[in-house]
Amino acid sequence: MKFQDTQSMEERLELMSELSKVFLSRAAKIDEEGAFPFQNISELKTTGYTSLTLPKRYGGEEISLFDLVRFQEYMARGDGATALSIGWHMGIIQDLGEKNSWNEYIFQMLCEDVKNGALINNCASEPQTGSPTRGGKPTTTAVKQDSYWLINGRKTFTTLSPVLDYFNVTASIPESDEVAYFLIPRSSHGVEIEETWDSIAMKGTGSHDLVLNNVRVKEEYLVEYMELGKKGASGWLLHIPACYLGIAQAAASYAIEFAKSYSPNSIQGTISDLPNVQQKIGEMELELMRARHFLYSVAKQWDHSAKDERAQMNPELGAVKLSVTNSAITIVDLAMRIVGARSLSEKNPLQRYYRDVRAGLHNPPMDDMTILQLARNVINRCDD
Ligand SMILES: Cc1cc2nc3c(=O)[nH]c(=O)nc-3n(C[C@H](O)[C@H](O)[C@H](O)COP(=O)(O)OP(=O)(O)OC[C@H]3O[C@@H](n4cnc5c(N)ncnc54)[C@H](O)[C@@H]3O)c2cc1C
Repeated sequence: MKFQDTQSMEERLELMSELSKVFLSRAAKIDEEGAFPFQNISELKTTGYTSLTLPKRYGGEEISLFDLVRFQEYMARGDGATALSIGWHMGIIQDLGEKNSWNEYIFQMLCEDVKNGALINNCASEPQTGSPTRGGKPTTTAVKQDSYWLINGRKTFTTLSPVLDYFNVTASIPESDEVAYFLIPRSSHGVEIEETWDSIAMKGTGSHDLVLNNVRVKEEYLVEYMELGKKGASGWLLHIPACYLGIAQAAASYAIEFAKSYSPNSIQGTISDLPNVQQKIGEMELELMRARHFLYSVAKQWDHSAKDERAQMNPELGAVKLSVTNSAITIVDLAMRIVGARSLSEKNPLQRYYRDVRAGLHNPPMDDMTILQLARNVINRCDD
């Protein structure tokens, strides 16, 4: 079945749940081997998932942000690495369709390819810039030569790199001192993936280095200029907290199942009857409830807001990301305390969730920047 075969959200969520269960059955092996989830990505393509955010004007479904984050959360319950990876692609297409900021001809070409399964990701991080959200200037360069751009540099953390068809790369233009995004097809001469991804978290994201050696793209492949350190409000980035919420839900479900079945001979019944365990289950539930309400209410707010209202939503969007990813870390911690020392076994999924949720701290926006933004916002408001 394909997602496009039904308009019913319940049926679509059911399909995602089925996929998620299959992804869960593969997750331990992918993590253990540090492999890339090729089969998961292939199934997301064949079920039509990877084209769900395409705009209606190009024959897509143009699903809402609310629906996107729900799908992403469900997927992450099975495999966080797969969800985070495909979340970039889904979100970027949604964002481009909403912003309409690219040359229409190039965007249409991209959309046609996405319909046929093509995948894209933004490649902005570099060893010298650290997180691009802090305003560091790319050392990757683009030099104009006649009607082409000649691009050289190295990008780190290129999630989905084993299967990307398009790399949307930030580069500095030395002659004008500007910075822009350049769309680089994988087939371009001089594109190389160096398999550097050795993280202990989100091992299945294939976030290797992208090396660009004299890559030539046509001039119209400069798709968008950017202002360093200046970020528009990006609702699509809520795919990140959705992912970590999904992992946290998986951890909580596992711990509760364990508590309902574990019966040491020091007690009658199972440990789920004990007040100390119930306390932790209640705390997990509270964190989950708070995280879910915050994430989904802001996603809905985004969907129902006009363009100028969305532009003011950065504080809420950052707050959701900070709050949900930190809750996810707390929930996994509580789940591990419930399960006890068994949670540290290599065979136990909780140790994978424990490593994976940590990655959320290093996805954008970073916590310190969000807190500062909230502070400045409220100070400015008080000045009015
Ligand atoms: C699983 C995963 C997937 C990712 N996928 C992608 C992707 O697809 N595409 C992509 O482009 N990137 C991706 N990234 C990279 C991510 O967006 C960040 O660029 C990367 O994690 C580095 O961020 P950092 O905060 O660790 O590094 P840094 O920015 O170098 O920060 C390191 C430390 O220095 C401090 N610091 C550095 N600069 C400043 C400053 N100016 N002001 C205050 N403090 C500062 C920070 O607070 C932090 O403590 C991914 C990262 C992860 C973990």
